[in-house]
Amino acid sequence: MTARLTLNEKRLVRQAHFIQSKADTIAVVKNDGYNHGLERVYRTFYEGGIRAFSTTVLSEAIQLRKWNSDIFILLLDPNTEFQLIREYDITLTVSSFDYYEKYKDELKGITIQLVFRNDLNRLGFDHLDDMKQILDDKDLNVNGIWTHFASADDFGVDRYQKEKEKWQTVIKGLRAYLPRLKYIHAQNSASFLRDGPLPHHTHIRGGVILYGARPYYEGLDASLAEQVVSIEANVIELTSVEGGQTIGYSADYKLEKDAKIAVCDIGYGNGLLKARKNFPVLINGKAYPIRSIMMSHILIEADNNVEIGDSVILYNDALRFDWFANQGIGPFSQQMASLNKQTFELTIIK
Ligand SMILES: *Cc1c(COP(=O)(O)O)cnc(C)c1O
Repeated sequence: MTARLTLNEKRLVRQAHFIQSKADTIAVVKNDGYNHGLERVYRTFYEGGIRAFSTTVLSEAIQLRKWNSDIFILLLDPNTEFQLIREYDITLTVSSFDYYEKYKDELKGITIQLVFRNDLNRLGFDHLDDMKQILDDKDLNVNGIWTHFASADDFGVDRYQKEKEKWQTVIKGLRAYLPRLKYIHAQNSASFLRDGPLPHHTHIRGGVILYGARPYYEGLDASLAEQVVSIEANVIELTSVEGGQTIGYSADYKLEKDAKIAVCDIGYGNGLLKARKNFPVLINGKAYPIRSIMMSHILIEADNNVEIGDSVILYNDALRFDWFANQGIGPFSQQMASLNKQTFELTIIK
């Protein structure tokens, strides 16, 4: 038997439609569409009404262009494959003044956007005057500016407020240029859900929420995001183990009393995060604890109601990625990115 991953394309379409109906959205489809499959998320998001896409790698941007000659495609990371960028009509992010000075000739004929570094301190401009100088360069076609907040997903601290203010200062400083910019964007899912669209912004730049996960938990209703992926495995063996014995590698868990151990055909080799072990699975609607997680197996402390061949649910509408994220096992993007899809029997709900 094989562990099963079910992916609900209908929900991807609905989620895209729901968010796009609230704000024009640049869908972030980096890392193979958060590991849902680039082609699948492009197609479903497009069906949901989204016409703008962004990713960090050129190969994904080119792939998107091959599927559709009309959509807007933004490359979020710097790149120097100017010929390909021009040929495939990719909008390129210019991430520093040094890059501009070095490549200003090559940038002619390419549509570009400028990124403000802000508190993420990853990529981008730090000074308004540098940005103005490029906006004033008549040889270049700048159609947008953007930033990425470092703390939009954090609560109880004022860092998010501060970086928002810094960005608003940039926007104010570039006031004269705004009318000719088609794309002014900053907000990831969390920022958008907290604040709604910010003034002067033309788009949000959404990831997790489009994939059916809430970026944070408090105050957000589950109906805001329908989980797209569910994962189940099978009980392949039942073993009676006496109290006081240990189970798993390196005596991973010591049983307090006699127990029925269900061996299940999924493990970290399928991409389960090891911390998933700290939370139960569902078998026939009842919760059972995981006692050990190995590469291809997990051991569950079961009872007499469990039989060989029963389904073991790791993720579904009741066991949500966003809830686990809130419990600290890792953000949705990490739980999702780590899944080795090819190790599962894949079912697509269309
Ligand atoms: C990943 C990413 C996003 C999307 O963030 P979510 O929290 O998933 O909505 C937006 N912008 C940039 C630059 C990103 O790298």
